[in-house]
Amino acid sequence: MVDSKDIAKELKTPVYFNEDANLNILQEPIAIIGYGNQGRAQALNLKDSGLEVLVGNIHDEYWDMAKEDGFEVLEIQEAAKRAKIILFLIPDELQPSIFETQIKPTLERDKVLCFASGYNITFETISVSQDFDTILVAPRMIGKGVRESYLNGRGFYSFIGVHNDASGRAKDFALAIAKGIGSTKPGGAILEVTFRQEAELDLFNEQCFGPAFGQVLTCAVDVAIEAGYPPEIVLLELYMSGEFAYTAEMIAKMGTLKQLELHSPTSQYGSMSRGIRYASPELREAMKQSLREIQDGTFAKEFAEEYKLDLEILDDMKEMAKDIPIVYLDSAVREKLRFADDSRGYNSRHL
Ligand code: NDP
Repeated sequence: MVDSKDIAKELKTPVYFNEDANLNILQEPIAIIGYGNQGRAQALNLKDSGLEVLVGNIHDEYWDMAKEDGFEVLEIQEAAKRAKIILFLIPDELQPSIFETQIKPTLERDKVLCFASGYNITFETISVSQDFDTILVAPRMIGKGVRESYLNGRGFYSFIGVHNDASGRAKDFALAIAKGIGSTKPGGAILEVTFRQEAELDLFNEQCFGPAFGQVLTCAVDVAIEAGYPPEIVLLELYMSGEFAYTAEMIAKMGTLKQLELHSPTSQYGSMSRGIRYASPELREAMKQSLREIQDGTFAKEFAEEYKLDLEILDDMKEMAKDIPIVYLDSAVREKLRFADDSRGYNSRHL
């Protein structure tokens, strides 16, 4: 166990707020490469922050959407060539080939290349020369949230990082971009990390916290249904009502212990007196194993092979997941309760 009291006395990560970032450094054109989830939100926010934004995309419906949103839209290479600052916002697995063929040829000395994820630099699937700035601006928020927060005048958290500081101003560019996309409005802030920390922790969240939580949920559904409770009520009680999502939101807003006060004494006593039963050394060991595979590059290598096979194993796993009881029950219950499909506005290509 870590000694949290000692660690809390010395929190070292640099944190920046609105007054620490200056948009004046962004007076030249910014190219948004990829008008997707993050691309659209960041392009609109930067434009609304008064900056000059071009979009580079493939010719498809998202090209048209960028035009309708009022942007000049160009081929990817042309947009990268015309801009001083390039926000590379296409999916991580596609970045290496697009970088080699369309971005790299445009990278001159005074350019700034900005990633929203540390993955490709960390796992060396992209290598960049030291002649230009390479930075990271990674919102801790999905694209829809990045746009909505901006429109509502609220900030959100972003990680920034510097891989190459050719200009001596790389961090200032990262701070300014984070401010331009709205991160430093009230309620938000910028934390400085390394590319490696961002990439590895992102994977840790996806491979440890997320799936471990999925197993806990599946186990709870099984135990309750086995005990004879009707599935509709079990699913609604455990997550479908949104009550749990609200608690998670309150944990973020108020803190883990303080949010307990929102619950009844019965709930507080019950959860605190029983909680220790579920502390599991096996869970800890499994998480450590997944983290080791992330840190030593085993996962990145495995995923690169899988990607070459057109995500064959992922497709098989998704097919198998349809038979997992909770997935099966989820759609039946959803249909019975006439749940509206609330997925519009998120990136439909992933749904
Ligand atoms: P999306 O899946 O939304 O895709 C982004 C863009 O990539 C789209 O405009 C898409 O074009 C384009 N694209 C797809 N295939 C090709 C191709 N073969 N050639 C050229 N362009 C292509 O990506 P995200 O916005 O989710 O992710 C972008 C970056 O942001 C990644 O680095 C990711 O890690 C990072 N990030 C994402 C977050 C999120 O919430 N999703 C959060 C924080 C960071 P089209 O739409 O026209 O098909």
